Amino acid sequence: MSLLVVGSVAFDAVETPYGKVDRMLGGAATYFSVAASFFTHVNLVGVVGNDFTTRDASVFRGRRIDTAGLERSDGKTFFWAGKYNQNMNERTTLATELNVFADFKPKLPGTYQSSEHIFLANIDPTLQSSVLHQVTRRPKIVALDTMNYWIERTPKELRETLRHTDILMINDSETRQLSNEHNLLLAARHIFTLGPKALVIKRGEYGAMLVHQNRSFSVPAFPLEMVHDPTGAGDTFAGGFMGYLASIPRVGDAELRRAMVYGSVMGSFTVEKFGLERLKKLKRPEIRARARHFYKMTQFSL
Ligand code: AMP
Repeated sequence: MSLLVVGSVAFDAVETPYGKVDRMLGGAATYFSVAASFFTHVNLVGVVGNDFTTRDASVFRGRRIDTAGLERSDGKTFFWAGKYNQNMNERTTLATELNVFADFKPKLPGTYQSSEHIFLANIDPTLQSSVLHQVTRRPKIVALDTMNYWIERTPKELRETLRHTDILMINDSETRQLSNEHNLLLAARHIFTLGPKALVIKRGEYGAMLVHQNRSFSVPAFPLEMVHDPTGAGDTFAGGFMGYLASIPRVGDAELRRAMVYGSVMGSFTVEKFGLERLKKLKRPEIRARARHFYKMTQFSL
């Protein structure tokens, strides 16, 4: 079984109340792939510039990540800069430099074209659609992330991509913006008319909510005494969620709930340190231990 991801591989500059880093490896597809590779094999599609060194690429080596679809183009790698407020739930984007991403046309290597699980990270919906057009079989699960920028500027293209999406994974403000509904359950009902059968609403330190088949399931964020850098938490959540689903033969309600827990568990590691620092050192037993802790933490009796 394999999981395909298309999205940004980037250099990020990040400032939080706990520190400042001027340039570190980041990007939605990077966080996603590293997280998902703990569960399954990942096929990565993206683009980097000629400033992306072998040392930068080492984050993918020794993991179940195929980088045949990571194109190298003449120019600079995508760059993003952001700053977090004291409460870490709000961030300001200071810079988005598309660079080689501006002319990116995703091309799927032949071995990727039969991927059964697909994650379309937050990029231009037209590019997301072009990836779906290149797969030769109807995938088992297509999940998609997007943001206010695309909801506002390319609503028609986004709607077209959503028609082929099974699971939409966005945050609460994007959910409200896309549906024009403040209440998240009503928003979900509206979103289901656009194509997706399930909605995962990411809510930062308040955890995440899954809505599907008139049911909802919520997971908290794992309680941590110290959060250093929330960058990439959403993509890491998606990596744990989709990585787990791609690793099992059948997906029902119980499996979707477990995927929510793995998403939350993986996201909780990312925020402990800056960038990919914590994920790079992560070991499988730590994931199992935190999932068990999560289980105990959410038990109660009636
Ligand atoms: P998250 O914190 O999960 O929302 O994702 C943060 C990552 O998304 C960073 O590493 C950025 O490089 C990347 N990113 C930020 N803005 C964009 C964008 N407009 N398109 C693609 N990737 C982005």
